[in-house]
Amino acid sequence: MNAAVENAYWMPFTANRDFNRKPRVITGAEGHWYTTDDGRRLYDTFSGLWTSGLGHCHPKIVAAVQEQVAQLDYCMTFQATNDKALKLARRVTDMAPDGMNHCFFVNSGSESVDTALKIALGYHRARGEGNRTRLIGREKGYHGVNFGGMSVGGIVPNRKVFSAALLPGVDHLRHTLDIERNAFSRGLPPHGIELAEDLERLCLLHDGSNIAAVIVEPVAGSAGVIPPPAGYLERLREICDQHGILLIFDEVIAAFGRLGHAFGAQRFDVTPDIITTAKGLTNGVVPMGAVIVRDEIFDAFMSGPEHMIELFHGYTYSGHPVAAAAGLATMDVYVEEGTFEQARSLEQHFEDLLHSFADHPLVIDVRNFGLMGVVEMAPRNGAPGARGMEVHKKCFWDENIVVRAGMDTLQFSPFLNSNPDEMTQSFEALRRVIDTID
Ligand code: PLP
Repeated sequence: MNAAVENAYWMPFTANRDFNRKPRVITGAEGHWYTTDDGRRLYDTFSGLWTSGLGHCHPKIVAAVQEQVAQLDYCMTFQATNDKALKLARRVTDMAPDGMNHCFFVNSGSESVDTALKIALGYHRARGEGNRTRLIGREKGYHGVNFGGMSVGGIVPNRKVFSAALLPGVDHLRHTLDIERNAFSRGLPPHGIELAEDLERLCLLHDGSNIAAVIVEPVAGSAGVIPPPAGYLERLREICDQHGILLIFDEVIAAFGRLGHAFGAQRFDVTPDIITTAKGLTNGVVPMGAVIVRDEIFDAFMSGPEHMIELFHGYTYSGHPVAAAAGLATMDVYVEEGTFEQARSLEQHFEDLLHSFADHPLVIDVRNFGLMGVVEMAPRNGAPGARGMEVHKKCFWDENIVVRAGMDTLQFSPFLNSNPDEMTQSFEALRRVIDTID
């Protein structure tokens, strides 16, 4: 049997045939380190997949999950619920911006986004504005892989095959990546606030009264860490207010410390109407997401006969007790260990390490904000993505570090409680690898 056939697992977002030639298999983890099936220890520069900011197998979260699974493994959350989901909803909304006191549980970032879009449509309809059906995303946005998120998303390979099946009535703002003007900016790039006026243009085109919601990642993640131009998010908020459009921040990456606060909204001091989350909600230990909404949105649904369901939406595992127990323990640790403050204190060191690559002949840009960062390499002639993949593999096999490559962009999501020396060493290892790449 050849390797491609041997692996029954069709891997997500992976070059399966290439992978199967020499599988990279992780079998354990502790703190900031993985162990592999061939017995090596690997430093994780990506905290899972932006998920595990507290480190892997945090003892407090492990204990909470073990206890919960033995106490209540599952119960339905349609018409009855569990104590942990109730508590977690309160904990999460207590951390959210003022006036956002309700949250809806889901199982992933993709579900978080599709749920938020449905809530936005339902909200307008409940208020007698059922004509507001148009949704606005942004080029290069990543909002997961379900049909709603894919439609408002703007990553071409993710959309290409499904082009004819995407939601109708969706427009996109232009993306804000401008390497020509903003290359090697530290933090928020100075140029590009005028791109927010795209929303005004779409309001003129469709009439703002037909637009339900705009969804953006406060800092675009998967497209290669694109921080918003200074003032851009504030301007989006203003235009939404002028036209009665809901602003959705997709904080599946940004929430829970990645930007040094519970929510990116707080870091930017811009309050959206809906926030989508997942990943850091449970430190990645059990899949779970939460959609947090402003009180007016929740209240708008609370009409009609009281015995009737107000929102015909939900998943079998919405508010799963084991996930909720993991979430509660995660929230405890964030507070007890001062994780968000710690994350902020690491930002300067992280920025300096990233920007030390600015002098490298293969590097065309470095971008960072909070504990999100990228080193972007020029693509190899005729083989875009090949350099990035080579770096990923050499890091894994030769330097014992896990580095995520999105095409030729090397992405970094350090632990919120990283050890600065380990961070330095991992970037030294990366430098050795990049120096061997042509
Ligand atoms: N939204 C954003 C901003 C994301 O970064 C992601 C995943 O990385 C998603 C949505 C989708 O999350 P999931 O992969 O859990 O469905």
